Amino acid sequence: SCVYELTALKKDYDEGSVQALRGVDLRIMEGEFVAITGPSGCGKSTLLQMLGALDEPTDGTLKYRGAPLPHHSQASAYRAREIGIIFQAFHLLPTFTAVENVQMPMLETDRTAGDRKTRALELLQAVGLEKRVNHFPSKLSGGERQRVAIARSLGNSPSVLLADEPTGNLDSENAHFILDLIIRLHQEHRMTLVLITHDPSIAARASRVIHMKDGRVVSDSNPPPGAI
Ligand code: ADP
Ligand code: ADP
Repeated sequence: SCVYELTALKKDYDEGSVQALRGVDLRIMEGEFVAITGPSGCGKSTLLQMLGALDEPTDGTLKYRGAPLPHHSQASAYRAREIGIIFQAFHLLPTFTAVENVQMPMLETDRTAGDRKTRALELLQAVGLEKRVNHFPSKLSGGERQRVAIARSLGNSPSVLLADEPTGNLDSENAHFILDLIIRLHQEHRMTLVLITHDPSIAARASRVIHMKDGRVVSDSNPPPGAI
């Protein structure tokens, strides 16, 4: 089934002086691992921000599971319950420990405090960080910070994982570990994975590679049947 359907999606910045997305038509199906590639400034992060309802399109339509993505004002519930997002720069809260950071999205749900903490500890164990649960982000390595961010993204069992250059700030050993972890989670939980990368060796591991240029999709290695 179709998870995302984008039709003539456009995004301008600065009152139209920057056209970051110039009409993107795209369908992303359940369980796919889609890599988005393309030169710096071509609109990859903007596209991911649209999928994550972090910002609103200027024009066109964006549907999630057949329904228009919630308006910005309702977006936080969609983000908390349906998707996990990870970024190159981790975006952890510096004044909260690892286990507290992981609990943040769960505050959107009606779990009890005890449940939240138990779940956060399980997730940190799943990413191999059971010995670091009470550390603050500043006391963790880059690879460990990204593992906390991954654990945080999984709190509400999302069906989609959105990742923007998740290994871009890591050395090659940590990058390898994090990529394997993300792919394993995608496979084990059948999460749809949309991952931005500059790195052809990372894109090569995806089931589908979409190349963007100047705000448009210019190639798609494996479009779903029936796509325009
Ligand atoms: P990529 O992720 O492929 O590097 P982006 O989506 O970040 O590309 O950016 C696409 C274009 O939109 C670039 O020209 C960038 O400078 C511009 N842009 C992105 N975000 C903003 C913003 N918040 N305000 C103004 N321009 C932006
Ligand atoms: P990354 O590639 O790590 O995702 P980006 O540089 O694409 O980082 O974007 C980081 C943030 O900065 C995003 O929120 C994006 O919207 C914003 N941004 C990117 N380019 C511009 C720009 N030209 N002007 C203002 N904000 C921008």
